[in-house]
Amino acid sequence: MRKRVIAGNWKMNKTLTEATQFVDEVVKSIPADEKVEAIVCAPFPHLATLVEKTKGTNLKISAQNMHFEDNGAFTGEVSPVMLKDLGVSHVVIGHSERREYFAETDETVNKKTHAAFNHGLTPIVCVGETLEQREANETMSLVETQVKKALEGLTNDQVAQTIIAYEPVWAIGTGKTASNEDANEVCAHIRNVVKSLTDEATAEAVVIQYGGSVKPSNVDELLAQSDIDGALVGGASLEADSFLQLVEAGT
Ligand code: PGA
Repeated sequence: MRKRVIAGNWKMNKTLTEATQFVDEVVKSIPADEKVEAIVCAPFPHLATLVEKTKGTNLKISAQNMHFEDNGAFTGEVSPVMLKDLGVSHVVIGHSERREYFAETDETVNKKTHAAFNHGLTPIVCVGETLEQREANETMSLVETQVKKALEGLTNDQVAQTIIAYEPVWAIGTGKTASNEDANEVCAHIRNVVKSLTDEATAEAVVIQYGGSVKPSNVDELLAQSDIDGALVGGASLEADSFLQLVEAGT
């Protein structure tokens, strides 16, 4: 049985005060269930405080991005070494907003995925098609290419530990969710791609999340799908109540 992974992606939201209030509230009621992993993907300035506040709890803290280099002349960037040093456990890589607004490519996603493993961070690698690509029937081939490039050069063991988030770009922040069947079909395809790159056991182990307008009212049906093991949630992860409901759905 794969574990369920519910990750809240706050994006560029919340002051440190708001972030600590959220975490204080969530850790009080987070379910102690080994089958579900709960993660908050917070802005860089909040990470140290949140890691400290969540020590010994069931809430993990993730970064939303990082550079692939360990250190050097990269003004404004944050390295995997720094994240690891803070005690961050996960890092989101290749979110569609990073690809669209900050020129992330499949190549940088691959470099960052390697960098994450080199420093003991678990990557949450995002893939997904735009509306244009879906309408042109390119979803499966596009996602396949993104997954193959992201995982290139990793060992089977590393692939098994990677979290892959399938997020159709047209469903992010729009209130439009992919139908359960469509979301599952793409997630199953991703699992097959992983199998073709590695082996059956690795494909069965890899956690695949769906993301795009997931909320408490639709999370159950999404998680009931055979190949959807969790959710990467933006808007509905900003309120502690709603986030807790999503985590509860994973138990
Ligand atoms: P959303 O965002 O839940 O607000 O659609 C998901 C994401 O971008 O990870």
